[in-house]
Amino acid sequence: NAQGEAQTHSGFVAIVGKPNVGKSTLLNSFLGTKVAPTSPRPQTTRRGVRGIFTTSTHQIVFVDTPGVHKPKDALGKYMNHEVHSALADVDAIVWVVDLRHPPTDEDSLVAHQVRDLPKPLFLVGNKTDAAKYPDEAMKLYRALLEGREADTTETMLSAQNNPNAVSVLREQILDTLPENPFFYPRGAASDQSREMWAAEIIREEAMKKLRDELPYAVATRVNRWTERDDGLQRIEGEIIVEKNAHKGMVIGAGGKQLREIGQAARKQLEVFLNHKVFLGLEVIVIPGWREDEEALRELGYE
Ligand code: GDP
Ligand code: MG
Repeated sequence: NAQGEAQTHSGFVAIVGKPNVGKSTLLNSFLGTKVAPTSPRPQTTRRGVRGIFTTSTHQIVFVDTPGVHKPKDALGKYMNHEVHSALADVDAIVWVVDLRHPPTDEDSLVAHQVRDLPKPLFLVGNKTDAAKYPDEAMKLYRALLEGREADTTETMLSAQNNPNAVSVLREQILDTLPENPFFYPRGAASDQSREMWAAEIIREEAMKKLRDELPYAVATRVNRWTERDDGLQRIEGEIIVEKNAHKGMVIGAGGKQLREIGQAARKQLEVFLNHKVFLGLEVIVIPGWREDEEALRELGYE
């Protein structure tokens, strides 16, 4: 402008895709490792802000969207509504697919959600390092967007070990952001409380293990977080299910499944926090929490 100040560009970007395609891995690569999960702002204005990337002139606010589901109950409806409003609200969408495999029905559902949105879409074919026929797979994913008119950019990469390709993609995303003041202070990494952030990681890991048995029938929360002098982070969390029968399913024979969920979540937490983590997990029953507006609110589904 006349004063010679740099114009800032900023916007919200959703990373969508079915489970296990590498969304979290890609987000971590976008942000660089060891991103602090907490921010100077304690309030949680918006569920699912996962990370913020800021340069001198640009800011990307990455928001998570819940998975796309066939609605079966109040939570299912809430989730689809969330996906819909999350996508209506963002400035660009990153759709991640797994190039090791051809598309499934779940990919079609995601494609259906994003296809007609008049905003930049980045189709990211992930896991090129492990894909046998990446070009052929990409063609099939591209076909799911047939008829789409708005601008689409394709990238094939490995979110795990392709930092150059990830930063090129990040630049392309930056270039689509509208002129806006920054939404968050420069130093902010995320607007969730650290407890909420950790609870989301626990929930993700639980969902990965449980998705065939009880799709999205679990909620999570973190009740205590203390730090020892040597830096060890002691985190105590709960996995909430709605029936006694589900409790056993989550815990598994001899507690094996709960241990595995805990280990997977602990590893992720340690990578982010750059500290050793002790994670204590308990499974509790809140009957019918998925249909209970008050319980949903209490668990952060507002
Ligand atoms: P999300 O459920 O979509 O968030 O997926 P995650 O990021 O949790 O990744 C799911 C699995 O895929 C994990 O085991 C990752 O290590 C793995 N993964 C992610 N990106 C890549 C990649 O580029 N190459 C390979 N080979 N594996 C990947
Ligand atoms: Mg994830």
